[in-house]
This record gives sequence, C-alpha cells and structure tokens, in this order.
Amino acid sequence: MNAFTLKGQPSLVTGANSGIGYAVAKALAAAGAPVVVNYVADPPSAERVVDEIRTAGGEAMAIRADVSREDEVQAMFRKMFDAYGTIHILVNNAGLQRDARFVDMTLHDWEFVLSVNLTGQFLCAREAAREFLRRGVIPEVSCAAGKILCMSSVHEVIPWAGHVNYAASKGGVMLLMKSLAQELAPHRIRVNSLCPGAIRTPINTAAWSTPEALSGLLTLIPYGRIGEPEDIGRAAVWLASDASDYVNGTSLFIDGGMTLFPGFSTNG
Ligand code: NAD
Repeated sequence: MNAFTLKGQPSLVTGANSGIGYAVAKALAAAGAPVVVNYVADPPSAERVVDEIRTAGGEAMAIRADVSREDEVQAMFRKMFDAYGTIHILVNNAGLQRDARFVDMTLHDWEFVLSVNLTGQFLCAREAAREFLRRGVIPEVSCAAGKILCMSSVHEVIPWAGHVNYAASKGGVMLLMKSLAQELAPHRIRVNSLCPGAIRTPINTAAWSTPEALSGLLTLIPYGRIGEPEDIGRAAVWLASDASDYVNGTSLFIDGGMTLFPGFSTNG
C-alpha cells in the first residue's frame, strides 16, 4: 500500500476556509481523504473550498462550529459521523491573534486567544480521541487508530513581545500535544504538531504585504523566502499518513530556518 495515501480516512480540518487550513484541506483531499471543512464565519468561503475539492475529484463537506464552544464542537463531530461514519485525522488548525502591548492587553484579548487557540484544540482533540478509542485500528486503512495534528507555531519556542496571549497559547499547545501523545500512544493514536514560521496568509498580512515589511521579515528567515500555505499542506499529508507511522509527540518546524537563531549567522 502507498504509505502516503489517506484513502478511507475521514479528516476534519478546523478553520479550513482560509490560509493554512484551506491548503491543508486541499492537500488531504488530494491524498484521498474525505474532508470536513470547518469554518466559523463566511459560509460562502467554506463552500468554495468544498467546491474546489470536489472539482478536483475529492470528497468534502462544510460544517460550521466555533471550536471554543463545547456544544458546537460536539455537534460538529456528530454531523461528521453521520456523514462519514468516523474520523481518522484531526487537524487542529483554527487560530487567531489579538495583539497588544502587554500593559494594554485586556482580559478579553487574553481569554479570547486562549479560548480558540488552546481550548479549541483541547475540545476537538477530546472528541476525536474518544472516537479513535471506540473504533480502534483498522489495519486495511491505517497502522494507527487515529492521528491528531496540532497547528502550533515557531512561537511555541520563540518568545514574542506584543503577542503574549498568542505565544502563551502556542506554548500551551506544545505540552497539550506532548502530554496527549504520551497518554494515547498505547492505543496507537499519534499526536504531533506542525510549527509554521512566517506563512503568507491573512493572519499576518502586515508582515509581508509591503516590500519594506517583507524585506524586514526575510532577515528572520535563513532560507530567504516567505512560506506558502502549500508548504504546510504537504507536511500535513506526511504527518497524517502511515509514512510517518513511528513519529509521535514531535513538533515539526516548517519555517525556512527561523528557529535557527538567524541573528547569530554572522558571528552574533
Ligand atoms: P487565517 O486567519 O487565514 O486562518 C485562521 C482560520 O481559523 C480562519 O479560517 C478562521 O475563521 C478560523 N477560526 C478563527 N477562530 C475560529 C473559531 N473560534 N472556530 C473555528 N474557526 C476559527 O490564518 P492562518 O495563518 O491560516 O492560521 C492558521 C493556523 O496557523 C493558526 O492556528 C495560526 O496560529 C497558525 N500559524 C500561522 C502562521 C502564519 O505565518 N500564517 C504561523 C504560525 C502558525
């Protein structure tokens, strides 16, 4: 069997109507997975993703849910099981930023980011894990009972002034992922993180949309280019497939070397 195929493995990608989630949903579908395109706002954009996947010969459906709401997450999983029977791959991608100087950061800015970026990952991972445990391994489909991919960030290790809520949420995702991987490994459930560097998406338009901003950004990227959402899509397919079957509890940095301390490349 082709170790990269995701055939027969229903997948859920949160926040899949934009940016990285959109590219990941398309890549998983191209590898054969039926894909749920989760969105919280802008239904037409989710329907466009579904249409694109179907036009390319894949299978997809859109389901609205706010990942920070327990009732909505549970309802989303029920709809997915009604349609596809089960889940094999969860990509916990939904995330956002509410940036402010620390002293100006409101409790709402703090709680809002933590509720989507961290609690949202907890709620979705818990529903997926319950189903993986119930169903177990189906050897003809995959070596694993299920795979969870957490969308983290280089900011799970790089401190980020002016973004303490975001950095704290991604630091939290790192140990959520590792603790889950440890707990669920005996059940043949794999949990790993994708840690993008700077990727060209709407979340960080200000960092790449003018030549000045882009050249400042490139000083942080040894590989000399900004990342594209498809860079993350390809990595997601590998990490979700049996090709990475012995990889568990790992943060995979996809960052053009941003985490290599580029400030030291000319002797510090
Ligand atoms: P984006 O803004 O294009 O996409 C974020 C998606 O999450 C959107 O579809 C949005 O609607 C959705 N979302 C937000 N709140 C939600 C909620 N409560 N429920 C469901 N969906 C919700 O940004 P992106 O760059 O594609 O970000 C995707 C993920 O990648 C995020 O977790 C982000 O932290 C992470 N990331 C991005 C970069 C980057 O450079 N773009 C770098 C590192 C990590």
